[in-house]
Amino acid sequence: MMLDETHDPRLGSWLESANTPATDFPLQNLPFGVFRRAGSDESFRGGVAIGDQILDLSAAVRTGVFGAGGVAPAAFQAAEAAAVAPLNGFMAAGAHAWSALRLALSRLLRLGSAQEMALRGCLVAQSQAEYGLPAHIGDYTDFYSSIYHATAVGRLFRPDQPLLPNYRWLPVAYHGRSSSIGVSGQQFPRPYGQALRGEPAPTVGPSQRLDYELELGVFIGPGNPPGHRIPLAAAERHVFGLCLLNDWSARDLQAWEAQPLGPFQGKNFATTISPWIVTLDALAPYRVPWERPAQDPAPLAYLDSADVRAAGAIDIELEVRLQSNLMHARGEEPEPVSRSNFKHAYWTIAQMVTHHTLNGCNLRTGDLLGTGTQSGPQPEQAGSLLELTHGGKQPLTLASGEQRRFLEDGDRVSLRAWCTRPGLPRIGFGEAIGRVLPAEA
Ligand code: MN
Repeated sequence: MMLDETHDPRLGSWLESANTPATDFPLQNLPFGVFRRAGSDESFRGGVAIGDQILDLSAAVRTGVFGAGGVAPAAFQAAEAAAVAPLNGFMAAGAHAWSALRLALSRLLRLGSAQEMALRGCLVAQSQAEYGLPAHIGDYTDFYSSIYHATAVGRLFRPDQPLLPNYRWLPVAYHGRSSSIGVSGQQFPRPYGQALRGEPAPTVGPSQRLDYELELGVFIGPGNPPGHRIPLAAAERHVFGLCLLNDWSARDLQAWEAQPLGPFQGKNFATTISPWIVTLDALAPYRVPWERPAQDPAPLAYLDSADVRAAGAIDIELEVRLQSNLMHARGEEPEPVSRSNFKHAYWTIAQMVTHHTLNGCNLRTGDLLGTGTQSGPQPEQAGSLLELTHGGKQPLTLASGEQRRFLEDGDRVSLRAWCTRPGLPRIGFGEAIGRVLPAEA
């Protein structure tokens, strides 16, 4: 991963809110999404988050700034593609197009840009926007890349053998469902399902063990033809970028149904992602070595490379906050309940992509991969309530005095993520908020 002028920490924007230390969206981030003015019947279109604003790419293309001197033709074409919602066409254009547009946007939004006045008319406040899904998502696959999560969950079901033998050899995953993926703000009724509820035979009813899962989502850029593997060295060229992902899970449904196949109704009722996709370009300064304990087996050759070992992991802080109905009514801030980091993942994004295609499975542009719940080595870094409360046995006590074993009706769950490094501006992912409504009668 190369650093270029777009990562220069000295760069500031003519938009003051992009230069504040707390913003998720400084000039060095430039994530892509799909939006329109809230409550309007406008068409959704592509935008870039900058400070507390969105640069409307459709409007910006119309001003002609991308045709001005100093903007590469590749950036002009990329801007036209990124202005259209959903972003599949832009995602398919590949890393050269993404980087060309990033460079053009960095120069246009930079302090001293000759295009400031033209672009000021293309800003929409994030507080006045609503978001769409950034891509048409054909397929969704959820991995299981945190060994801490896999071990903690495995221990609840198999105390004597928490981690199954395949875990250290391949990135485990299941195929999820794309129809119920929603963008931040998603609300859904508590799912019904079959479960064992203390009686010999299963009963049907609302889930009593509804949980969140703290994950990142990975959007696929160019896909691969059926039958053709993506080698590890090429894997990241197929990755457009990352978002937040909450893989809501009904643990009681999951425990009863997933014998022996993988998650079904315990997972497929809702998945919430954040509206902004942070590109691998933006994440380049936050790469860290990918390491695993010396006693663990080395990965098979197709999953191993010097590049992965040198910088395959990414240092991304992750956080879950919970706000009950009572807290919301009292105006109390959401309370942090989980805090972890993606650098603890046992498998890298490149390894997940490569393994996914090992058998010739074709990924398509706009496909979404979940990283799996990202729990860290410490107990408080657990990325789900299942782990935090030891399967519901030890309730969490919130500052409001309320207790939680699993999610209650009305609960709002907010995922956030950000990267920091000394000397660099902090870049963030925004938020993925979802809310549990009462079960349908
Ligand atoms: Mn999951």
